[in-house]
Amino acid sequence: MSFSNISKMNFEISDEQKKFLEQVDEACKSIREHESRSYLEEAPNDMIVPEFGKIGMLGCPISKKYGGLGYDILTFVFALERIGREGNSLRTFFSAHTSIGQMVLQNWASEEQKRKYLPDTVSGKKLMAFALTEPDAGSDPGSMTTRFEERGGDFILNGKKHWVGNGTLAGVMTTYARGPDGRISAFIVEAGSRGFHAEEMKNKMGLLSIKNAQIRFEECVIPKENLLGTKGKGLSIAYSALIDGRLSVAAGAIGVMKDCLDESIRHSQKRQQHGSLLAKKQLIQEHISAMILNIESSRWLVYRSAIARQKLHDYVEGLKEKDPNWQEKLNREDREYSALRAKADRLAAVAKLHSSNAAYDSANRAVQVFGSFAYQRTNRVARHFLDSRAIIIYEGANEVLKLKIASLELGDKYQAY
Ligand SMILES: Cc1cc2nc3c(=O)[nH]c(=O)nc-3n(C[C@H](O)[C@H](O)[C@H](O)COP(=O)(O)OP(=O)(O)OC[C@H]3O[C@@H](n4cnc5c(N)ncnc54)[C@H](O)[C@@H]3O)c2cc1C
Repeated sequence: MSFSNISKMNFEISDEQKKFLEQVDEACKSIREHESRSYLEEAPNDMIVPEFGKIGMLGCPISKKYGGLGYDILTFVFALERIGREGNSLRTFFSAHTSIGQMVLQNWASEEQKRKYLPDTVSGKKLMAFALTEPDAGSDPGSMTTRFEERGGDFILNGKKHWVGNGTLAGVMTTYARGPDGRISAFIVEAGSRGFHAEEMKNKMGLLSIKNAQIRFEECVIPKENLLGTKGKGLSIAYSALIDGRLSVAAGAIGVMKDCLDESIRHSQKRQQHGSLLAKKQLIQEHISAMILNIESSRWLVYRSAIARQKLHDYVEGLKEKDPNWQEKLNREDREYSALRAKADRLAAVAKLHSSNAAYDSANRAVQVFGSFAYQRTNRVARHFLDSRAIIIYEGANEVLKLKIASLELGDKYQAY
């Protein structure tokens, strides 16, 4: 097992990054009330794009070449952590738009595709989404039944995806379909394409200010130039996107826990029962210390995972500069890439598994500290509780992540999923 030399890890940020994170903090505060209202009304928060767009957060880790801020993964993670304090619903927007949206294009698209799509997504003119899951293919995307064939110079897609975050709002998304040879390919799909239908999924349990869609492809026409990456390598692209998705979940979970902690402290220092403040009760303090343990243990895993992801990114970007056939090189056995990817994959899975459980535990404890006052969706910790249930399921259900972590260590022949 190879662990990085921890003395090399540096979580310090520059003045410029600090200024950006202050802007993120301001934007979060400016939309706070609107987010609560949107959540209760189950409406998308229409202040996200203008407020976060003006500080560049709609393209935080996207290269300056395409209009983004070009920040490193760790800075993006710090921003997601801050956004997480406002809830998983808001953070999920950035996951769908950036982590499993724009970053898939940044990582795998051709130069022409990046120039065509990324600037509009950075400006907020077009939102992004990631359509992988199907009603009969959730934890096992490899069993997907959405199909494509080549006809008249185009790709024709037929099939159904569901739970697609931002799916009713996105102007562009990536999707994944099986070809006649049985192999899965990735595609860039524009929402207005012929045969593309998006329908909102209603009656959700939480994450109420983010919209999820069921997408139907009915003889959906996708131009040939919208094939993403190498034909037949779509599943590898999707799995690489999930590394970024898991990192986003894990980073946002820290914010959720911090908000649960702050709210619990605030409430327990003013609510009195049995003659003294709740904050004085030892069993309430047990909840507070558990939340602090949850935050501190998650932070280390998340930041470490961000650094491993950055190393993978730097390696691939270096290859892109040197070798126009970089995708072919990666598809052949590139041992350094495989090692960096396996490490980023494992650490993101560990961080997501731990932080999502820790966020759910913290939100549950915070609800208990508030008692009946948290039994209404108008209460922040109530929303954290409802929304944190989802993060144990999506971006890889936690059971499957446990199996993945074990098999990455044991070797492929022990894969139990
Ligand atoms: C709010 C929300 C947002 C989402 N956003 C998106 C999105 O933007 N894009 C997208 O493509 N998808 C999205 N999803 C889908 C999500 O990724 C899937 O829900 C997830 O992968 C689990 O698949 P499933 O729901 O079909 O559950 P299943 O795969 O049916 O799993 C059900 C249970 O069985 C367990 N299980 C499955 N296989 C095994 C195994 N081999 N061993 C042990 N246990 C196992 C799972 O851990 C889980 O507990 C979203 C889902 C939700 C709820």
